[in-house]
Amino acid sequence: MIAADLSFDREKILEKIRSAMSEKRFRHVLGVEKAALELARQYGCDERKASLAALLHDYAKEVDDQVFLDLIDQHQLDEDLKVWGNNVWHGIVGAYKIRHDFGIEDQEILQAIQRHTVGAAQMTLLDKVLYVADYIEPNRDFPGVDEARRLAKECLELAVAYETAQTVAHLAKKAIPIYPQTIETYNAYVGYLQ
Ligand code: GDP
Ligand code: FE
Ligand code: FE
Repeated sequence: MIAADLSFDREKILEKIRSAMSEKRFRHVLGVEKAALELARQYGCDERKASLAALLHDYAKEVDDQVFLDLIDQHQLDEDLKVWGNNVWHGIVGAYKIRHDFGIEDQEILQAIQRHTVGAAQMTLLDKVLYVADYIEPNRDFPGVDEARRLAKECLELAVAYETAQTVAHLAKKAIPIYPQTIETYNAYVGYLQ
């Protein structure tokens, strides 16, 4: 029973995740698990939760938009969510699909998945581990990723701040709308960079 003790059948879960996404994304997911486990060990986070959250975090990334719109109605989520797109939905709304498809009821895991793209003003250790691991996993290659990896070893909150500032700058530069919760994360953590 997945929800009860987290002694999940790893092979079964991996197969289900693999069949829901491209090979490239599956490799990313395994990289996020590796990074999340390293951070969990360093910062004293529950390793099984970090592992499961990492494996599941992008499960909904290749799901049709209509599925998210239906989930928003079904769970009576904020109607304002509907103007956003997959990038914002796959975590915040995707967690409802993950709960359904995998029988995951652990709220800490579901919350970390919900927050993995946009963060939150007050993140738990597990939230931060997944948020940062997603950004620094070994397959990532973009300007600033090595700095993010270095900061993650030094201070997890500093890495959250750095990642959020980079993301906000990246989105603004490309004139992409920024989800309000991303700004809240930025404001809550930017002090670490000063
Ligand atoms: P991935 O799923 O592993 O690719 O990584 P994320 O879930 O962290 O991010 C998915 C995409 O959402 C990336 O292209 C981010 O730049 C983008 N993103 C992050 N925050 C926001 C936001 O506030 N608004 C919008 N529109 N996109 C965002
Ligand atoms: Fe994601
Ligand atoms: Fe990801």
